[in-house]
Amino acid sequence: MNRTAPWPHPKAFILDRDGTLISHVPYLHDPDKIVLLPGVRDGLLQAVSAGVKLFLHTNQSGVGRGYFTLEAVHACNRRLVELLDIGPAPFARICIASEAPDQSSRHRKPSPVFAEEVTREFGFRREELWYLGDRGSDLKTAHAAGTNGAGIATGLDDLTAELAEAGLAGAYPIFSRFDLAVKHILGTS
Ligand SMILES: [Mg+2]
Repeated sequence: MNRTAPWPHPKAFILDRDGTLISHVPYLHDPDKIVLLPGVRDGLLQAVSAGVKLFLHTNQSGVGRGYFTLEAVHACNRRLVELLDIGPAPFARICIASEAPDQSSRHRKPSPVFAEEVTREFGFRREELWYLGDRGSDLKTAHAAGTNGAGIATGLDDLTAELAEAGLAGAYPIFSRFDLAVKHILGTS
């Protein structure tokens, strides 16, 4: 491998789910509606073979709003794991922030608490962690936690504009496909 990346070898990806790994469906709660996005499986396989641990961090305010149950989120996550087909438990931890935006929440992005827990529990340095997501809130989390981050512009929203609004214009690289972000992070692009 020709390593050129000017950052420490990544140890962990903290992955957003909706709009990053799977197609964005508003308030998704039906496992049958889960569709992997292009490049996701390939990118995750590359990451895993490079020794990167995978974590999932997903805001699911539909639970707090009473639109669907936490069990429906678990069912969707199980379907995601099935579709990924990279092992029975690809994620070292899954963090579901189920609160609505107006409810108090320990883990709802952009809270850095999950990243802090991962850092402590696994002994990673913050710069060895990468947040990957399609929304400003994912990269605001990276910013709040002091981790690295990369945007995947697959969402319905304009990620570049969201970052600019958050005072983070140009702070994180943005890619059109998941596997391109992974290659960049691993220094293999
Ligand atoms: Mg998302």
